[in-house]
Amino acid sequence: AKAEGRGRFKYFSEELTRGARERIALEARLRRAIAQNELRVHYQPQVEIKSGRITGAEALVRWQHPEEGLIPPVRFIPVAEETGLIDAIGTWVLRETCRQGKAWLDAGMAPVTLAVNVSPYQIRHGDIAAMTAKILAETGYPAEWLELELTESALMEREGEAVEILQRIRALGVRLALDDFGTGYSSLAYLKRFPLDVLKIDKSFVDDIPHLRDDMEIAATIVAMGHTLRFKVLAEGVETEEQLAFLVSQGCDYYQGYLKSRPVPAEDFLKWLVPLSS
Ligand code: C2E
Ligand code: CA
Ligand code: CA
Ligand code: CA
Repeated sequence: AKAEGRGRFKYFSEELTRGARERIALEARLRRAIAQNELRVHYQPQVEIKSGRITGAEALVRWQHPEEGLIPPVRFIPVAEETGLIDAIGTWVLRETCRQGKAWLDAGMAPVTLAVNVSPYQIRHGDIAAMTAKILAETGYPAEWLELELTESALMEREGEAVEILQRIRALGVRLALDDFGTGYSSLAYLKRFPLDVLKIDKSFVDDIPHLRDDMEIAATIVAMGHTLRFKVLAEGVETEEQLAFLVSQGCDYYQGYLKSRPVPAEDFLKWLVPLSS
């Protein structure tokens, strides 16, 4: 029995080592990918419901691997988050998005709000406000057309400082969205003090509209509560006309989802931009 136990231990430790080795290998490949310019930003339109116009886009990172093709963020963001590489990736995505946004403005396009994801790691370890200020200055992109998406859980981790972190970002003139709303543990007491512009209803509450009464009630409640707190409300993951119709009936302000478009490369997003007073 003893020998068997040792054998099992050895087996598990080899497994762990393999997991760790794979993580280190992926980390090294990711570092190279950043250096060799293999990351891409795709843009998913955000639609203002009352006008039907595309008023913004969420910037979403992809890894254009020379052999493996386009790798989705679920395959590398978790490791990047664990190893801290997300800092470099997040900074790159923000800079690239602001650079692209400025190029569109310089080409005479009417501005849209570009939304960039900020990871929990960046909230925990970085000075997001300072980094954002630096990139806005570097790229010349106007702060008022930038939105940062933060998650509830990242903010709750920094309870005491959360409001201050948000205020520092807001002071730059940058807008703030609370991502994946409803999935973290939300304290209404904190939410009410957060200087936010937008609440993003998590896709999981949108998926089963119009089949699950409970999810419909949760979505409706988030819209009403968001409005009470004077936030705009955006529903994510909208795939069907029925889902959209329900959200419209509840007074939701914006939506984002495959119904309008998947995230697309910058060249393809250009078709939705409108030249300024031509
Ligand atoms: P997220 O921030 O919640 O982004 C929304 C995700 O939902 C995106 O997946 C988007 O493509 C997907 N989506 C949007 N509409 C629909 C829909 O109608 N149906 C379905 N099935 N999916 C929809 P994506 O691009 O694969 O990104 C996944 C996650 O990876 C993001 O979730 C975010 O947490 C993370 N991520 C992506 N880019 C970045 C980044 O630059 N920085 C950080 N920190 N995280 C990122
Ligand atoms: Ca997001
Ligand atoms: Ca989200
Ligand atoms: Ca999500």
